[in-house]
Amino acid sequence: MKALEDKIRAEGKILPGPVLKVSSFLNHQIDADFMMEIGRELAARFQDAGATKILTIESSGIAVATAVGAALHIPVLFAKKHRTSNVSGMLYQTLVHSYTHGTDYTVVVERDYLKAGDRVLMIDDFLANGKAVEGLLDLIAQAGAEAVGAGIVIEKGFQEGGALLRAAGLRVESLAVIDSMDENGIVFRNENV
Ligand code: 5GP
Repeated sequence: MKALEDKIRAEGKILPGPVLKVSSFLNHQIDADFMMEIGRELAARFQDAGATKILTIESSGIAVATAVGAALHIPVLFAKKHRTSNVSGMLYQTLVHSYTHGTDYTVVVERDYLKAGDRVLMIDDFLANGKAVEGLLDLIAQAGAEAVGAGIVIEKGFQEGGALLRAAGLRVESLAVIDSMDENGIVFRNENV
C-alpha cells in the first residue's frame, strides 16, 4: 500500500531491536482517517474469506481491528492482557512473548465471545516473529473456531514470523513488508509494483 509506505518513510523512526516507531499515526497518536483507509484495504483483501469475527490483542491492534470490522460489518474481539496466569474457567487463555518488551504475558478472551463455528480473521499492527499471531491461533483452536487468515499493517519481513505462518498454511496479508531498515533507510518488498 503505497500511501502506507510513504507515511512510514516520512514519519517512522528506527530504534534498536530493530523496532520501527510509528507512534505519530499507528501506535500512540492515531490518524483516524488513515486508519479507516487501512481498514478498508485489509477488508478488501479478505472480502472473500467469509470471516464472521475479528480477533486482535490489546492495545495497538484494537484501532486497526475496529477499522477492518467497520468495513466488513463484523464484530471485533480483542484478547485482554491479564496480570496473572491463574484465570477463571470462563476464559480461554494463552501465553504470548512480547517482542517489544522481551517478556511473556497472559492474554484471555471470554468463552462467550469465541465459539466453534466462528471464522476468525486475526488483525495486528505489526508482524515480527509471529508470537502474537501464534497466541491468537491458540485461542482460536481452544474455542474450536477456524482461523481464516491474518491481516497485518506492517510486516518486518527480515524476521521469521511471516515465513513461518505462511509455511504452516495460514493466509497472511500485510499492507507493507519491510525487507530491511537501518541508517541507510527502509527497503520495502515489491515497492512500486
Ligand atoms: P511478534 O509477536 O510477531 O514477534 O511481534 C508483533 C507484536 O510486537 C505486535 O503486536 C507489535 O505490537 C509488536 N512489535 C513487533 N515489532 C514491532 C516494531 O518494530 N514496532 C512496533 N511499534 N511494534 C512492534
